[in-house]
Amino acid sequence: MYDYDLLVVGSANADLVIGVERRPGAGETVLGSDLALHPGGKGANQTVAAARLGARTALLARVGDDAHGRLLLDSQRAAGVDTTGVLSGGAPTGVAVITVDPSGDNSIVVSPGANARLSPADVAAAADRIRAARVVSVQLEIPLETVAEVVRTLAPGTRLVLNPSPPVELPAEILAACDPLILNEHEVRVVLGRTAEAPGAREDDGPEEWARALLALGPRSVVITLGERGALVADAGATELVESVRVRAVDTTGAGDAFTAALAWRLSAGEAPADAARYAARVGAAAVTKEGAQASFPTAAEVAALTG
Ligand code: ADP
Repeated sequence: MYDYDLLVVGSANADLVIGVERRPGAGETVLGSDLALHPGGKGANQTVAAARLGARTALLARVGDDAHGRLLLDSQRAAGVDTTGVLSGGAPTGVAVITVDPSGDNSIVVSPGANARLSPADVAAAADRIRAARVVSVQLEIPLETVAEVVRTLAPGTRLVLNPSPPVELPAEILAACDPLILNEHEVRVVLGRTAEAPGAREDDGPEEWARALLALGPRSVVITLGERGALVADAGATELVESVRVRAVDTTGAGDAFTAALAWRLSAGEAPADAARYAARVGAAAVTKEGAQASFPTAAEVAALTG
């Protein structure tokens, strides 16, 4: 009945990465390494992560009619993602210009480009495709009104997974549809409101207080990712801390995207949220053992082979 296990409505960016001895200050020019060009963006990362695990996955996104757009389409198709919903044109493909110094600290400029033109009308035109998915995943690298239109378009039986990244305070209409709202510690603080006094945002509050405060905002369930400590899964009935696997971390880029995609896929298969999160934690852990984002995402066989 469903054509897709997971449909992602989100961003697709070309990541332009240059290594530098020292990141430049205002008015300064520095020489850097050869340019590395990688497919990225949270939406495109999630579809690749899910497809690599074996999920029937589709991407709804907008890229430019340019070489970066073709790079993104090629990488999606190579992973087995259905790209018939990827629109082209209207603006250049989104780009992230990243400089990284030897200590691993980076400076990033994002040009949203075509991502900012993915409109509510684009979502409405893709309504049949959206309703053909068991789980729909969105992030916030596309306009908030486009995310709101996705919420309005969902079929009654379709589950929405939202990662509020980059984080903003979310309208009630979107929050109420999330099952789960999935976010890291930094995103928790912004979604709860920036003030230190906000419930769940006080200095000595921990993940359980955050989860309770987030649930009070209206999502059906919440998953807080905690890096090497794993993730907290919470709904009105229960809260469970799911441990990750102990690994040697090489590069954490994309770990959250891999975790979210894996969780969404396991939920689409009918798994209980804590079991889905346990699997997703293994996928996130596998992703940090390799350099890069999409290049680091494991196959199901690699997840099974991960010890710990
Ligand atoms: P984000 O990339 O959004 O900040 P996290 O860093 O919390 O997200 O990572 C997402 C998930 O990936 C974690 O919940 C955990 O399961 C796994 N993970 C991330 N970093 C590590 C690590 N160093 N060791 C083991 N697992 C990790």
